Amino acid sequence: MKFDPASNIQNLKQFGEYGDVNPSVTDSATFTFMQAKTMLETFSGDAEGCFLYSRHWNPSNKYLADAMAAMEGTEAAWVTASGMGAITSAILQLCNSGDHIITSRTTYGGTFAFLNNYVQKFNIEVSFVDITDIKAVEAAITPNTKIIYTETMTNPMLQISDIPQLAKLAHKHGAKLLVDNTFTPMIVSPARLGADVVVYSLTKFVNGKNDCVAGAICGDLDFINSLIDVNSGTAMLLGPVLDPFRSSSILKNIHTLHIRMQQHSKNAMYLAEKLTESGIKVNYPGLRAHPQHELMKGLMNDKFGFGGMISFDVGNADKAAEVMEMMENEGVGYLAVSLGYFKTLFSNSGKSTSSEVPEEKQKEMGLTEGLVRFSVGLDSEIDRTFEIMHKCLKKTGLIQ
Ligand code: PLP
Repeated sequence: MKFDPASNIQNLKQFGEYGDVNPSVTDSATFTFMQAKTMLETFSGDAEGCFLYSRHWNPSNKYLADAMAAMEGTEAAWVTASGMGAITSAILQLCNSGDHIITSRTTYGGTFAFLNNYVQKFNIEVSFVDITDIKAVEAAITPNTKIIYTETMTNPMLQISDIPQLAKLAHKHGAKLLVDNTFTPMIVSPARLGADVVVYSLTKFVNGKNDCVAGAICGDLDFINSLIDVNSGTAMLLGPVLDPFRSSSILKNIHTLHIRMQQHSKNAMYLAEKLTESGIKVNYPGLRAHPQHELMKGLMNDKFGFGGMISFDVGNADKAAEVMEMMENEGVGYLAVSLGYFKTLFSNSGKSTSSEVPEEKQKEMGLTEGLVRFSVGLDSEIDRTFEIMHKCLKKTGLIQ
């Protein structure tokens, strides 16, 4: 039977202590114990179901974490204060000084900066590879490789990672596959395809409201427990914990995620096809022309489409600024970083979310100066949105 993340969310039975259909928000940093012995047992991890302190666990965070684990099909999950909190905690938990990481050279700029500039403090080496070239990934493996890191759909190039092949390769060499699934929640379930750890920026599609930053780490129970071990857990010791009020608001939004992903995908496909017909060379994994279109079809769960992200090149950064300002004025959406919002958002990747990547590296990965990335919104009249885009592209000379 095919895995269905939406059905797993539907099956959740989470309600509050007074029967509240939305679980109560636990507005508490610490928790009381009736017996001192139980407190001691909680510290050593032997007291099941007891809450100790909110940097470790909080009931509201547990509800959201359980929902994320259900959606991903993992044993457990832990929620963080941001996507970067999830990524950095997971990586630092898996690596020690002297270890080696192989990463896709196209990832979110913050992740790139962490791997290119930061982990070296801990004497961790990183190789940046074309993740679509499995031979290049294998060639980069060393005896110290601990992690192969990638995004299911890479930011901003929208390349698709062959998760089953990467998992096989990682496991053959005793490494773990860590996948950022931020662009493709519900669409792809990396843990079901062999990934050991799945990380998320919940800030994007999962929450979908752009009212907070948040993240999640999903994996097996041992790994999640290791993250919050009071003596050695990266999450416990660095403390990127999510506020329980935010957990509670994000949890409510997860229940509409399946509908939103379908609409994002439908709208993105419409724009990708119409823009292609108008002569624009669109990058969208849902188009047959996309180099990993067939691969993506093989990885996808049913029903959720190819996602809400599209991009195309408008020539150079000045042209990108001109088109984006016009599109914002005319009502296509907002000139803003981030994604997964109900409004369409667009930005010039090289000058925004990938500006941490040096120019020569941008060139190497095929990130051109004029690339504009769109997170297509939930517009009910996407044909009208297209008409406005078409008008803007025509006025700026990009369509004849
Ligand atoms: N992963 C991806 C793919 C992203 O696009 C981003 C942010 O844009 C992040 C992680 C970081 O998430 P956050 O901003 O929630 O820390």
